[in-house]
Amino acid sequence: MTDIRDDVVAGFESAYGRGPVGIWSAPGRVNLIGEHTDYNEGFVLPFAINRRTVVALGPRDDTLVRVASEYADELAEIALDQLAPERLRDWSAYPLGVAWALGQFGADLAAVPGVDIYIESTVPVGAGLSSSAAIESAVAVALNDVWQLGLDPQTLARVGQLAENKAVGAPTGIMDQSAALLGRRDHAVFLDCRSLESELVDLGFARAGLEVLIIDTGVAHDHATGGYAERRASCEAGARTLGVESLRDVGIDDLARAREVLDDVTFRRVRHVVTENQRVLDTVRVLRSQGPTAIGELLDASHVSMRDDFEISVPELDLAVETAQANGAIGARMTGGGFGGAAIALVPSEGVSRIQVAIDGAFAEHGFGQPTTFTVTAADGAGRD
Ligand code: ADP
Ligand code: MG
Repeated sequence: MTDIRDDVVAGFESAYGRGPVGIWSAPGRVNLIGEHTDYNEGFVLPFAINRRTVVALGPRDDTLVRVASEYADELAEIALDQLAPERLRDWSAYPLGVAWALGQFGADLAAVPGVDIYIESTVPVGAGLSSSAAIESAVAVALNDVWQLGLDPQTLARVGQLAENKAVGAPTGIMDQSAALLGRRDHAVFLDCRSLESELVDLGFARAGLEVLIIDTGVAHDHATGGYAERRASCEAGARTLGVESLRDVGIDDLARAREVLDDVTFRRVRHVVTENQRVLDTVRVLRSQGPTAIGELLDASHVSMRDDFEISVPELDLAVETAQANGAIGARMTGGGFGGAAIALVPSEGVSRIQVAIDGAFAEHGFGQPTTFTVTAADGAGRD
């Protein structure tokens, strides 16, 4: 297998007829726990994974920004002074949206050179592993270096989020970009989405002989429309009715009152967010005090909450989780925004293949399309390669 870094240089050369000045990359991420808490100013615990989006970049003599990707047939281009969210569409809205968003965070787009960008990735698209934040973060660190902007990783995370919110039009939170930019090998990023303060938490998976199995159901999700925006609106409505700025301000003890003043659906949406925040705090505490083999019940409870209260699971995700649990996983849950995508299972290394076989069998038995399963490790965040 050739290295993706060789591929991205070859791709750059064939797209632009010259070599790049450098290569940058950013990882996909898995959220260990803390789902739909980010935009409620709560807590999340993602980790960067050993699958990356790699960007080769070369500055230009003019003001054009051109982007090409092995993912897409056509090259997209726009002049720096034409960058605006409403002019960007399709996949190129991610990288070009980042260029625009850097301008919103102080980059003087009239003073920087145009660039040619070529992108390759080993992060599967639409699997809940945030290929979108990987591409945004890889482009953000590359432009930050080449344009000598000196923005810190926390700010670059907000740049990526702004690009996704405004240029792509997906109302997502700050979690994915934070994991992609701040992650570290064998650690998770414990992120407070209100203060944006983060701490690395030692996962200890390798020491404990544990692996994280990703079960990509292959069921497509679409965050730009539908369920995600609707859940977000429910959370905002719940907070409004409860008289708080965000659901971060609601604790477990407030749920009894919430049940009285909210309609049933809104109450269950709120209960998911409130209990999920608590589960993130508990997971961090248990990781530090007892180690990773003790977090299984928290992962399992998170899935039940998403399935029954937030109602963002699908039968394929439920089956993946139940089959993993029944075949020796320490814990399992769907991960990502929901309505498809992937589940994760924390599994003793020697039990991985047994669970994979069991899941393949269960999916076949239910007449579901075959899922893709693979293990990931916690890896370093974005940077220059
Ligand atoms: P995910 O869960 O993978 O983040 P999203 O729908 O949020 O799914 O983002 C996927 C989109 O990001 C793709 O449809 C594509 O537009 C863009 N994208 C991701 N990776 C690449 C890539 N390597 N090259 C071009 N576009 C990409
Ligand atoms: Mg995404």
